[in-house]
Amino acid sequence: MDDAEIKMQFLFQLRQKGVTDARVLTAMERVDRGAFVRGHFADRAYEDMPLPISCGQTISQPSVVGLMTQALDVQPRDTVLEIGTGSGYQAAVLSQLARRVYTIDRHRGLTRAAEVLFTRLGLTNIVVLTGDGSFGLPEQGPFDRILVTAAAEDPPGPLLRQLKVGGVMVVPVGQSDAVQMLIRVTRSETGFDYQELLPVRFVPLVEGVAED
Ligand code: SAH
Repeated sequence: MDDAEIKMQFLFQLRQKGVTDARVLTAMERVDRGAFVRGHFADRAYEDMPLPISCGQTISQPSVVGLMTQALDVQPRDTVLEIGTGSGYQAAVLSQLARRVYTIDRHRGLTRAAEVLFTRLGLTNIVVLTGDGSFGLPEQGPFDRILVTAAAEDPPGPLLRQLKVGGVMVVPVGQSDAVQMLIRVTRSETGFDYQELLPVRFVPLVEGVAED
């Protein structure tokens, strides 16, 4: 297969798994997943599977990235917070759809690498930070959209508080090793609405900042 065929196959797989939003598909067509996968896994970047990255973490499965992005319903003027930068791929996809993206990871090794990559790719509307994302970013909030890409037992309270009224948060919820449920939380004037989306499997949200 040549590059064009590989790209077409990649988009075909996304559609087949339910990623149908044209804006999300265009964003994922623009962001080359191959740039976010290094070493001997690079040639599998266009397959629909999660892959290992450094610091013992993983880059999510493309269809899951697509379905989460679609569920988040990002609007062009939105400020988005992502918890769990990992490879930076999800943040790069969000950067195509939002005004500004803040992304935070507890591994400095990952945030440094992502920052270098965003600069190289000319993605200037992403701010990368190192820290425990469970607390969110109170100074930069509240946010229109929050995407958590690590599993929590419950949606973290500080993140709920940093969601604007009318805002949407997508978060995998459940015990760390079991299958988790992806949920969408919508904040209204009076409270929070919860909707179950699909079963997923993410690495757990871990407390504190990592050593590496
Ligand atoms: N969105 C990533 C994949 C995320 S993997 C991508 O597109 O590649 C989950 C990430 O969450 C890991 O990098 C892990 O270090 C991070 N993480 C786990 N607990 C965290 C916490 N409390 N705060 C910030 N990041 C956390």
